[in-house]
Amino acid sequence: MTPENQNADHLFGGLNVKYELDVPLAPFTWYGLGGPAKVMVHPSNKSDLSAVIKRCWQDQWPVYVLGSGANLLVADSGVDGVVIQLDDPEFKQVEFNPSHMTAGAGVDLPQLVLQTARAGLEGIECLSGIPATVGGAVRMNAGGVFGDIGKSIHQVQVMDDRGMVSWRHHDNLKFNYRKTNISELFILAAQFTLTPQDPQSVKARIKEIFQFKKKSQPLAANSCGCAFKNPLKVPADVPKSAGMLIDRAGLKGHQIGGAKVSDQHANFVIANDGASTSDVLALLEHIGEVVYKQFGIRLEREIVVWP
Ligand SMILES: Cc1cc2nc3c(=O)[nH]c(=O)nc-3n(C[C@H](O)[C@H](O)[C@H](O)COP(=O)(O)OP(=O)(O)OC[C@H]3O[C@@H](n4cnc5c(N)ncnc54)[C@H](O)[C@@H]3O)c2cc1C
Repeated sequence: MTPENQNADHLFGGLNVKYELDVPLAPFTWYGLGGPAKVMVHPSNKSDLSAVIKRCWQDQWPVYVLGSGANLLVADSGVDGVVIQLDDPEFKQVEFNPSHMTAGAGVDLPQLVLQTARAGLEGIECLSGIPATVGGAVRMNAGGVFGDIGKSIHQVQVMDDRGMVSWRHHDNLKFNYRKTNISELFILAAQFTLTPQDPQSVKARIKEIFQFKKKSQPLAANSCGCAFKNPLKVPADVPKSAGMLIDRAGLKGHQIGGAKVSDQHANFVIANDGASTSDVLALLEHIGEVVYKQFGIRLEREIVVWP
């Protein structure tokens, strides 16, 4: 909850920061669902961001970081706090050198994958077809069967909740299945270690991975990709993937309101016309209960839910 008797004018008084009030968040997410952000800020640079963060910290306003909204489900009631998106060109810079590439948090990941191939560098083809910004992909350690972003990260620039900027070197970074040990509020940029390679062969690999994804997943539907993580420990006689568990539980095609378990990939919960966030949440809960009842396995959500 935002502090009582405080409005955004008070929060940002004296700062040269542009903000908007009651901004609908649905258009910023792949689900296209959810209510408004009480305050939304698109900082122009790191020093503006730092000033905003310091104020939010001092006045105890909750801060939410928005990437491309490909893994976000926003509550129907919206978000009672400050939503910050790093989409200014300042946060979208990319720099190549012979064995490294540095990309700002706001860079579009699918475009970066192609740009890297054109530059004759290999190492992030496994991210082909994953909608994300660099910041969101690092936060989630995005990836799949072909690898994840963490494996090619050399260092990450972060900003903490007091607005302090630092670099975290790969020696003290841990990337696990869809998570990292980065506790700072913002990822500002990431530096990747890459290997020189013939651009045509990198492009061919990207295409191959994209085709694989396209064949098995409903990429055009409104969703957040996989709704649940694959369970880490399962008995030998039980399917290993969340999708298989949901499928075997007979839930493909199951619908609550406008939310539906995809017929193509059971771990995709899609939002059809008229769906609300409550529909998606109710379906996620139902899936969790049915899978637990049938297999004794508690599925963990991969989707991030705000608030
Ligand atoms: C069709 C489809 C297919 C998908 N396939 C895959 C897949 O194969 N593999 C996979 O891993 N994921 C997949 N996803 C999920 C999604 O693409 C990833 O989770 C991605 O990393 C989300 O990035 P984003 O920028 O959209 O982050 P958002 O969804 O905006 O945010 C996700 C989380 O990251 C945080 N965050 C965002 N930016 C920053 C930042 N700069 N600093 C700190 N925190 C930040 C947010 O606060 C939030 O907690 C898929 C999603 C869709 C819609």
